[in-house]
Amino acid sequence: MSVLALAALAALSSGWTGPGAPCATAGTDGTAAARAPGGGRPAWAAERREGVRAPVRDADGSRAPHRDTGPGQVPDGRVPDGRLPAGAVTEGRARAPVSGPAEQGGGAAAGRSARGQEAGAVTAAGAGSGRPAGGWAAIKAQHAGGARGGPSVRGASGERARRAQRAADAAREAREARAARTATARHWRLASVPLAAPPPPAAEPRLRTPADLRVPGPQQGLPPVVTRIPTRDKVVFLTIDDGQDKDPDLIRMMADLKVPYTAFLTDDLISGDYRYFAAMREHGVVLDNHTLHHGYLRGMGRVRQQREICGMQDVLERRYGSRPELFRPPYGSYDRTTLEAAESCGIKAVLLWSEEAFADRMEYRGKGGVLHPGDIILTHFRGRREWRGTMPDMVRNLLRTVTAQGYAVARLEDYL
Ligand SMILES: [Zn+2]
Repeated sequence: MSVLALAALAALSSGWTGPGAPCATAGTDGTAAARAPGGGRPAWAAERREGVRAPVRDADGSRAPHRDTGPGQVPDGRVPDGRLPAGAVTEGRARAPVSGPAEQGGGAAAGRSARGQEAGAVTAAGAGSGRPAGGWAAIKAQHAGGARGGPSVRGASGERARRAQRAADAAREAREARAARTATARHWRLASVPLAAPPPPAAEPRLRTPADLRVPGPQQGLPPVVTRIPTRDKVVFLTIDDGQDKDPDLIRMMADLKVPYTAFLTDDLISGDYRYFAAMREHGVVLDNHTLHHGYLRGMGRVRQQREICGMQDVLERRYGSRPELFRPPYGSYDRTTLEAAESCGIKAVLLWSEEAFADRMEYRGKGGVLHPGDIILTHFRGRREWRGTMPDMVRNLLRTVTAQGYAVARLEDYL
């Protein structure tokens, strides 16, 4: 038996145990767990064996996984450890993990250079004493030209003066933009200014399902299943699931900071307030499919799976005007029927995740406990009741981690 066949067999017998099953908000979990593959064991059981915290149950029986009880929790109204209070944006915090352009070589040097400059700019703007590279020089050149030539300047010297003026204008605008980003970061109490994402790729990366995520049998015609987008850029993608908590501050914060994200929504959890997500959409957030009722799809009959996925396509189209192309199965639970049903409903790709962000920490699914280019990060619409932190707390914690590792949050749809 070949290695691939063994891998496929292992996937069949154990299900996908990578990202685990953090999406426990629907009230169907009790029965869903019983339907889970692996002898009724939900996917998170495999994680528990590996030391990942298992879900706990609320008094009402609904599952609230990853409830935080340990140290490092974000207390109400307090700035957690390691985070600076308002008005104390760190100088050059993002610089450390990002090599300066002169230290870099190789393929993605251009993108990293841009970010290195951004990190340097953070230092200057944050400190309030930095001088824009080239800005003052350009202004001096302009003044010198004016003093020498005066109103009678003609020809070449006049062109030089105009060029100097344009350079000075550009430098001033860049300086003002940096100052605005710094002020926004300070307003939302970020530890440092987020790095700017590089320009989107010229060509869309081709998604391929890794061997450990494939369902048995032929792959042709099935949408790819991925936890990462192929890229060499130091970018990660933020996805927020379910729709339970509807904090207006989240929409404001992300719009202010210009941090892109994508939402995977379950109708049961959004139907009480469709308008919240309409407001999100107005800020450019793409709303994608996370089923009608948030059940375990693996092992579910074809008709029901079709209804869960296509039905949510219909809801999103009716409410928000477009049918999504991206789908995320609740709990990361899927089988061939899921992928076939998703394809028939117009889904182009199934997105799982590489890391999960909480209000107080990040959980890494891969080796090394670090981010990788193109990682998809999962988090949830949660509030204090579920994780004793707010959505802005989660964003602060996430951005601190992402920025400290030299990454930017990029727009998922720019890469697909
Ligand atoms: Zn979910």
